[in-house]
Amino acid sequence: MSSLQDSHSTDVRSHLHPYTNVIKHRGTGPRVIDRGAGIYVYDDQGKQYIEGMAGLWSVAVGFGEQRLVEAATRQMSQLPYYHTFTHKSHLPVIELAQRLVDYTEGRMATAFFTNSGSEANDTVVKFVWYYNNALGRPLKKKIIARQRAYHGVTVASASLTGLAGNHRDFDLPLPQIKHTSCPHHYRHANPGESEEDFATRLANELEALIQQEGPDTVAAFIGEPLMGAGGVIAPPRTYWQKIQAVCRKHDILVIADEVITGFGRLGKRFGSDVYGIEPDIMVFSKQITSSYQPLAAVLLSPKVNEVIAENSGKVGTLGHGYTASGHPVATAVALENLKIIDERGLIENAADCGALLHEELRALADHPLIGEVRGTGLIAGVELVADKATKRPFDPLGKAGAYAYEQAHEHGLIIRGIQDTVAFCPPLIITPAEVREMVTRFKRTLDDVTRYVG
Ligand code: PLP
Repeated sequence: MSSLQDSHSTDVRSHLHPYTNVIKHRGTGPRVIDRGAGIYVYDDQGKQYIEGMAGLWSVAVGFGEQRLVEAATRQMSQLPYYHTFTHKSHLPVIELAQRLVDYTEGRMATAFFTNSGSEANDTVVKFVWYYNNALGRPLKKKIIARQRAYHGVTVASASLTGLAGNHRDFDLPLPQIKHTSCPHHYRHANPGESEEDFATRLANELEALIQQEGPDTVAAFIGEPLMGAGGVIAPPRTYWQKIQAVCRKHDILVIADEVITGFGRLGKRFGSDVYGIEPDIMVFSKQITSSYQPLAAVLLSPKVNEVIAENSGKVGTLGHGYTASGHPVATAVALENLKIIDERGLIENAADCGALLHEELRALADHPLIGEVRGTGLIAGVELVADKATKRPFDPLGKAGAYAYEQAHEHGLIIRGIQDTVAFCPPLIITPAEVREMVTRFKRTLDDVTRYVG
């Protein structure tokens, strides 16, 4: 490519971007990120940004981690590719499967590998169907997800996702997928309703939905322990206990999508540990390799695993898997990445720096544009509102969030605007000084937003 301008115009001409307004992109062109180091990335003009979203909620160990480069290089030299079909295996995938199972302390028995979180959740849907067919319950197939959930974009996982933009004009969701209310207390609680009462109401609503559909037709409930891409929404107190009680009563599997919350994001190893979730199936991705390689995993409890194993024996094979399931380079990188997370105490750092991040953001809570500061550990959402007293959103919805997203770049900060919620999810290696610097850059952004909407 002969010049920056050439590469930008080639991008516009030849590259169809995900999650991008393609028509707008023809006018703006791309922001080309060229390199990264620690919590920072640099664009092709040398401008530095704090990556306040760790890429896509995923680069736990930061950018430029040489140990991961070396792990990938070593594995590339030894065995760059092999598959795991038809009884084949290799050492990195064996070791990683064991490591993941060990992390769950006996709650999970086996790990199945895919390339992405979306494929992992598609795998979950298929396994849930396979499981119930194996048990002779051909009608028990519906899966309940939540409005504003994010579980990916393939046909089944986009159906689980509870965001209109992932359904509209894609002929989704599939009819077997149902959605129940989003557990966002600030937005959906009745006036004066406590978190506990709100959680009870949501559990009752789930019970009513199951009764309406017929308990014998509902197979599973899926949720992110804390919702990420839907707007950084932490569950109200007692929510997961009450939801799980409803599921257990009707023999409905509980699936924890830990694609964002896994490996320390919330200050404990898993989001399930934070909220007392006892899942039958867990889904991991993103921080499993710090996204240096594409990889995801579906973990099955002993109960689910045994039924699936038995059925594969009966059918003759488990007819599911990807060319790159448990790819040796991706699994080798995951092993080194998880080692770094443990050796450097990054889960504890997420708890400590997360507490600081929330303290710094809560110090802004009196700002007239800030309706709510939420999240836990190293994930936070700051919801901007047009009227603080009435919680009235901006019109159009997303006006302030989109402006904040754009304008933050001017101040050397990458955040996410989810409607009018500004999301933060920095690398787990962030230091207290860097947390303060990130919030300083956000304050400058907020000043710009105030002028813009004012
Ligand atoms: N599940 C959750 C909770 C996610 O946040 C995401 C992606 O953001 C996915 C699944 C989908 O993962 P992928 O983008 O790797 O398909």
